[in-house]
Amino acid sequence: MRVTPQPDRETALARLADFLPHAGEDYERWRNHDFGPGGGNRVSGLSPWLRHRLIGEDEVVDAVLRHHGLAAAEKFIQEVCWRTYWKGFLERRPVHWREYRDHLATGRARFCRGRDSRAALEAATTGRTGIDCFDAWARELCETGYLHNHARMWFASIWVFTLELPWALGADFFLRHLLDGDPASNTLSWRWVAGLHTPGKTYLARPRNIRKYSNDRFTPGPELASEAPAPEGIERPPLGPVPAPVELTPGPGDALLITEEDLTPERLFPAVQWPLAVALQTTDWRSDAPVSDQVRGFANAALADALQRTHAEQRLGPVREGDGVGDSPIVEACTHAGIRRLITPYVPNGPTADGLEPLRARLQAADIELVGVPRYWDLDHWPAATHGFFRFWKAARPLIEARQAAAAE
Ligand SMILES: Cc1cc2nc3c(=O)[nH]c(=O)nc-3n(C[C@H](O)[C@H](O)[C@H](O)COP(=O)(O)OP(=O)(O)OC[C@H]3O[C@@H](n4cnc5c(N)ncnc54)[C@H](O)[C@@H]3O)c2cc1C
Repeated sequence: MRVTPQPDRETALARLADFLPHAGEDYERWRNHDFGPGGGNRVSGLSPWLRHRLIGEDEVVDAVLRHHGLAAAEKFIQEVCWRTYWKGFLERRPVHWREYRDHLATGRARFCRGRDSRAALEAATTGRTGIDCFDAWARELCETGYLHNHARMWFASIWVFTLELPWALGADFFLRHLLDGDPASNTLSWRWVAGLHTPGKTYLARPRNIRKYSNDRFTPGPELASEAPAPEGIERPPLGPVPAPVELTPGPGDALLITEEDLTPERLFPAVQWPLAVALQTTDWRSDAPVSDQVRGFANAALADALQRTHAEQRLGPVREGDGVGDSPIVEACTHAGIRRLITPYVPNGPTADGLEPLRARLQAADIELVGVPRYWDLDHWPAATHGFFRFWKAARPLIEARQAAAAE
């Protein structure tokens, strides 16, 4: 079993430094190959840190630009921008998050009712379907908290088109077991595989492709579905707004709230001495079913690392919020410290944002305002996340070029 990666910023920066020489030609050539958990993959493995913003997309892109330049590392930079694209897309079409939650609830109710369907689901999540590659990936995911991108695509495709299981249950399985489990990248990638993202387009896992890119570790055959029919009537819902910039200077009545969505608040609010900083543990909000200990442990330690890096007179957490009125350690701590405004790095659509709403109401009742501050990286890129990735990239590339030019000055 792979050792769980260290959930701190120092490790993220060290990993980026180690990977930098490989972010150019090496990545472009080998990124689709999955040599398995034994080692040899040429991808960065940065996603658990990037997902929690222990390191920012901007930091990774800037470092790669300095080392290689855009032309030589365009593929890697594009991949980092897929994360930004998915986050922006979900921000602009929040209905997809609500739909996912609804599909999950109905899928679970339907699938857990019948004995056969319950058994099929259990076989898929415990790696006992009899499809070797799929079973190996299910076990790898549960043991390591990670799967290579290609394995995620193959796994999701087999889940939907061969096993004919509801996509939302697969997305939930990933979200509860991936160290980088992310509401936008995960939900929208599953939708993309199932044919719900691009009208008329699905992703079919083909035996030859699996064999080639798994380095002959797996040789599946006719047990895999040979067709992936696209669902009909897929339309894009209307676009929602993007967050507006928030300019503020934190003062004595302001406290900092940290969530697993953004764990480098010191980059957003440099040199602020906070009277109070609170880390809120929200990992269990990802699902009604249990999140893996590994995932919870990673997020918890990452929250503690961020809290420890914060300059604050008083630190609280990581804490959980209770369900009852008057059962909020955060409201209690803020009231006690005379806080009027609780400031947090912007929380995008997903379980943390959902779960913050009751807290916002409790804070309001105590006359404390909750303010989310978006990052310029998101403000700059999210407006273009309206259609497909390549349209997004057309708008994103000039922004990346401008970063490169600014760094060269
Ligand atoms: C069905 C499915 C579910 C997924 N669920 C998640 C998820 O919950 N969380 C998550 O972070 N990624 C998810 N991905 C995207 C992708 O598989 C991972 O980001 C990537 O495998 C992480 O490994 P890496 O850091 O070695 O990536 P690298 O190849 O080294 O890429 C560098 C970084 O670019 C970003 N990136 C690369 N590919 C993608 C992509 N396709 N979509 C979004 N960002 C990308 C990641 O931040 C990654 O760390 C999913 C993909 C699929 C097909």
